[in-house]
Amino acid sequence: MLLDAGLSYRALQERLGALNVAVEAITAIFVTHAHGDHVRSAASVSRRHGVPVYTTTGTRKAWGTPAEQIEHWKPLTAGKRTSRGALSFLPFTVPHDANETLAFRIDTPEGAIGFATDIGCVTSELVTRFQDCRVLVIESNHSVELLRISPYGASLRTRIGSDQGHLSNEALAAFCAEHLGESVQCVVLSHLSRVNNTPAIAEMTCREALDQRGRTDVQVLVTEQKRAAETIDMSTLPLPTEISKKPNVGGQHVLPFM
Ligand SMILES: [Zn+2]
Ligand SMILES: [Zn+2]
Repeated sequence: MLLDAGLSYRALQERLGALNVAVEAITAIFVTHAHGDHVRSAASVSRRHGVPVYTTTGTRKAWGTPAEQIEHWKPLTAGKRTSRGALSFLPFTVPHDANETLAFRIDTPEGAIGFATDIGCVTSELVTRFQDCRVLVIESNHSVELLRISPYGASLRTRIGSDQGHLSNEALAAFCAEHLGESVQCVVLSHLSRVNNTPAIAEMTCREALDQRGRTDVQVLVTEQKRAAETIDMSTLPLPTEISKKPNVGGQHVLPFM
């Protein structure tokens, strides 16, 4: 299953191929919103391989002409679960400047994943939905300082930095320090700007916030636009029951991947 399809068909094919996965193996695409960096090849994958596209009516309306190629629609409603195989998707809306932008909480047999790539700000609903997840894939779009001195024009900078735009490294760090659930074992920094951020700055900002909170047990992974990210095998993360059995050193859990 794909969550968004923002690469070209060819790039998607290459990235999946590197993981020994054929495009034909995709059985569904869940779409968060209709911005180009999330839907670029969604319509062509759907049409060529008869794959259903799960999204909201708002996204479908905002998508425009390419969406006309899609024959298999599955409507999503915020707050209503949809199951697909062993996975249960709970979509919910997040503040972003597109129609009905969604984030997902995905329950799997290995525990829950939180997925939120375009979020202007952290909402109380997101905090609640992500509370008992094991893995979070979440936006760390820009450094506030790099955005301030960015070559982008003033109106674009304002849009990105607004509560309906994109989440900064600093806002994500504040979320990690104040609201990260005890069960979260891995935070995957995503949707990094190539202009207003660097992987090193994003990782350091998040890591520092976690360390200050004594959450040295949390693994931080950084994704980049130009390459496939590290694969996470949730079955290799320690089970929550194992975590509670680990010795508690100075209020911190000790995990094997440290
Ligand atoms: Zn967007
Ligand atoms: Zn985006």
